[in-house]
Amino acid sequence: MDGARVAREDRVKRIALLGYPVEHSLSPGMHDAAFDALGLPYRYELLPVTEEEFGARVRECVAEGFAGWNVTIPHKGRMLPFLDWMSDEVRATEACNTVRVESGRLLGYNTDAAGFMAGLAEVGGIAPGSQAVLLGAGGAARAVAWALVRDGYDVTVLSRRQEQGEQLAQALESHLPRPIDHASLSPATLNRHLEGASLLVNCTPVGMWPNVSLTPLPVGLRLPTGLLVYDLTYRPRPTELLKRAAQMGCRIQDGLAMLINQGAAAFELWTGCAAPLAVMRRSVSGRTTETPRTQRT
Ligand code: NAP
Repeated sequence: MDGARVAREDRVKRIALLGYPVEHSLSPGMHDAAFDALGLPYRYELLPVTEEEFGARVRECVAEGFAGWNVTIPHKGRMLPFLDWMSDEVRATEACNTVRVESGRLLGYNTDAAGFMAGLAEVGGIAPGSQAVLLGAGGAARAVAWALVRDGYDVTVLSRRQEQGEQLAQALESHLPRPIDHASLSPATLNRHLEGASLLVNCTPVGMWPNVSLTPLPVGLRLPTGLLVYDLTYRPRPTELLKRAAQMGCRIQDGLAMLINQGAAAFELWTGCAAPLAVMRRSVSGRTTETPRTQRT
């Protein structure tokens, strides 16, 4: 290897995705395209890591001089005990998807919340103080509920296991200015809570590839015209839910916007540079039609 190439490779700042599985992630292509577009000396790599290996892998990443990493399923909560500092989002949602290493200290962020809100703004948003209904009460729903209530919206979480919605509401309560309403997911509760709502967010994987004909909507349910329906899934685009919502006169948004914007927020934390959103969008847009075994950010 010539001297100039050695010097160049020495300067490369390594970024990784820690998760399991990670092979089908769109993040390496998206981030490497963004680093190249700005001429930044960063490279993004996949690190499949099991639960048992997680702590040792984190310590190796620090020892090997990684500049930062993303964390995905199933480790977003597992990252917290390793952090020297965490953002309000991480503290509230108990989930960390982005780490920045600064002088050996691990700083933890959750960019899913910012990514979701940026996707909402891209399609014109909803009126201040209006009502949002979330389907599902898992990790993504926590980030979405936290961001919406922080920004002044009223949120109701409908989940098939009512205790999961209750846990979400309790966990976020002390971090937010107002409580989150919750109920079990049924045709009757959905109908009732959609009356007067401005936003419906699908935070379940229902409708995600390969089960593309499914929707979380009960048969025959009519969505109010003018409702904004936001599906966090981006495979397929649009989902069956979004197709039906558009036919009923609703505005729609899919999960690709959240994926790109959560990545952009992480990019900015690592590099300090404004993310080239158009480059990132171009890099992932075509790839959502591929047929993966799993879907991972
Ligand atoms: P999660 O933690 O597993 O939560 C999934 C939630 O959906 C749980 O409440 C689960 O309830 C519920 N659910 C699953 N199957 C259901 C069904 N058939 N009917 C009703 N509820 C059902 O997953 P997550 O991390 O929150 O992710 C949720 C979705 O958002 C996934 O499709 C994920 O790919 C997507 N996502 C997208 C982005 C993005 O950037 N676009 C980011 C994060 C997540 P149970 O616990 O009872 O199963």
